[in-house]
Parts: sequence; structure tokens; C-alpha cells
Amino acid sequence: MIASTAGAVSDNDVLVRVEHVVKHFPVQSTSLRKGAHEVVHAVDDVSLEIRRGETVGLVGETGCGKSTLARCITRLYNLTSGTITFEGEDISALSRRRMRPFRRDIQMIFQDPYGSLNPRRRVGSIIADPLSIHGMGEGKGRKDRKLLVQETMELVGLNPEHYNRFPAEFSGGQRQRIGVARALILRPKLIVCDEPVSALDVSIQAQIVNLLADLQKEFGLTYVFIAHDLSIVRHVSDRVAVMYLGKIIEEAPSRLLYNHSRHPYARALLSAVPVPDPRSAQVRQRIILVGDVPSPIDPPAGCRFHPRCPKAAQRCIDEEPQLVARFDDPITHETACHFPVADGEDLAAARPSIAATERVTTDPGALST
Ligand code: SF4
Repeated sequence: MIASTAGAVSDNDVLVRVEHVVKHFPVQSTSLRKGAHEVVHAVDDVSLEIRRGETVGLVGETGCGKSTLARCITRLYNLTSGTITFEGEDISALSRRRMRPFRRDIQMIFQDPYGSLNPRRRVGSIIADPLSIHGMGEGKGRKDRKLLVQETMELVGLNPEHYNRFPAEFSGGQRQRIGVARALILRPKLIVCDEPVSALDVSIQAQIVNLLADLQKEFGLTYVFIAHDLSIVRHVSDRVAVMYLGKIIEEAPSRLLYNHSRHPYARALLSAVPVPDPRSAQVRQRIILVGDVPSPIDPPAGCRFHPRCPKAAQRCIDEEPQLVARFDDPITHETACHFPVADGEDLAAARPSIAATERVTTDPGALST
């Protein structure tokens, strides 16, 4: 994929700018807390730049807010607060009508290639949907629109003669190609890929990832790529942002993040990525975190990771860490942690110095290698 630009970035290079975005979802109060106004803090004060032609990976456990953030960027969700600019224009509060021209440039590929396609409609008309919605290709005859759809089918590796088939007649990988064709037909500038390969077999995953890379080169596309699988994110991304409980806790060019991660949570996630070389796998430390992610309805004070963090100290409860460069890292590598992990540091040997009541477990041996 296209190499990331380190250092200063001009406004022209930035396609999307996310500034202090917050997305809260109100929830019905439980019977025990009747009358209480509770909200799920799905995304809390997130800022991110997405540059033209690059792929930004978003990773984190289920419920960390990565898909919600993606839906905020595409404006499928209204923001609770914050700003999103696309090519310098503030799109955060645009009405549906005023958002329409931007929708042409911002498309999405969904996780479930089975659920995201209407089984009763023919593939040709599914792929042509964005053209009809945006009134494009109308000046041309029906025949021309069909040609455009078939051309796009060919681009994504589908047989154009299968234009009249139904989704059920395609395999999982082919259905995801239909999803890619639908996103591509308007020739957008940004495609948000929300776990596009998670539901596919490993061999098919590689085909879809390679297809996305080829299309990026050909059309100069910009991707936001969300996935659970960190090895795939590493392969496709120029930069990676790690999310935890609604916040970005570390962001860096892919190579730096995977070789010099600073945040204990990012370090633990990366320690679980399979290594192809058995000798490296043998000597590698596996960090197993204690407990589950706390409730996003009532996130922990200070650093949200402190109840599970092996390095947690009182300062982590009292003061929220800012996302800044640590040690002598470049400004493109930012970490939100008061006590970042140094290169070569043995995280498995670390023990928290906060009270057991602040932890999700009292078992000092629960963090293991
Ligand atoms: Fe752990 Fe403290 Fe860093 Fe949070 S700020 S990750 S609790 S060391």
C-alpha cells in the first residue's frame, strides 16, 4: 500500500479530519436505577487525521468504539459533539440533503457479506443502487448503466455475465466482492471497510485484501480499515490507531506500532498476534490481561485501562493521560500512558501499585506470560 508521510502534513494532504468527536447513546435505566439518565460512552473525545491515499487501521476489542467511530466518520450516526471535516468542509452537522454530495465520496463496505445484500434482488440492481440514489448515469440509457455495472463487476473480479443472478448464487468471497463493487461504482474518495474480511475463510481474506490494495493503487482510494485481526491490519495499514473503551490510546505508523508499541494494552494485543516463525514464537512473551473491558456506561476514572493494567499507579486514576509522543518517539507516534513501555521492558514482570479495589481482580499472578 502507499507509504505514509511522516512528519508535517499540509491541509491539502488531509482528506478527513476528526476533532474531539464524542458519540454517546442513551440507554434505558435499569429497574435498580430508575430515573437515572445513563449513556453508553461509545466514542469519547477522539481526534484523528486521515490523509489522501493512505490506509488507517482501527483496532481494539469488541465494544471499543471502532465501528461507532467509523459510522460517525461516514455520518451514518449524528455526533454528540465534535467536528468532522471532509476536504476542509465541516460535515458534522449537515442535514441529509446537504450531506448527499459528500455521500458520493464516502462509501462503506460492511462486515457481513450475507446480511448486507438483499437476497431478493439481482446483483446488477444491487450494485447499481448508488447510481440511482445519486441520479447518476440517468442521462445515459439503461444499457449504459448496465455496462458501467458490468465494468465494475469485472474490476472486482466478478463475471459480468452474472449480472442477473441473486446473492445466494455466490460464495462468501464473491458476495464481499459485490459489496466492494457497490462501494466502488461511484468512484468515491474514502471507503470505510468495517471488518470486511472477518466473516471469510483465511484464503478468501487474502484475496479480498489484495483486491482492495489493487483498487487503492488504481483509483487513489483512501481507506479506514477496521479489523480484529492485527496481522491483517498490519499488512494493509500505513498507520494504525488502537482504541480502548471509546478512546484512541496509541497511534503510530504501522511499522513503529508493531515493533515499538508503548501502551501496555497495545503491547498485550500485539503479543497475541501469531508469529509465522516457530523459533520467534517460542521466545516471544505472551501477555494475558486480567478481566474484561469495563462497562462503557460507567468508564473508569483517569486512564480507562487502569483496572486491567499491569503498570497502573495512583496517578493513572487521578489524571487522564494525553495522547502525545513518549520517550524520543517521532511526533507521528503518540501514546496515552503515564508510564509507557520502553523497548526491551519486561511487561510481564510489572505489578500494579494501586489498591486491589481499583482492579478487576486481586490475583497478582493473573497477568502471565
Ligand atoms: Fe497503565 Fe497507567 Fe499507562 Fe493507563 S496510564 S496504561 S493505567 S500505566
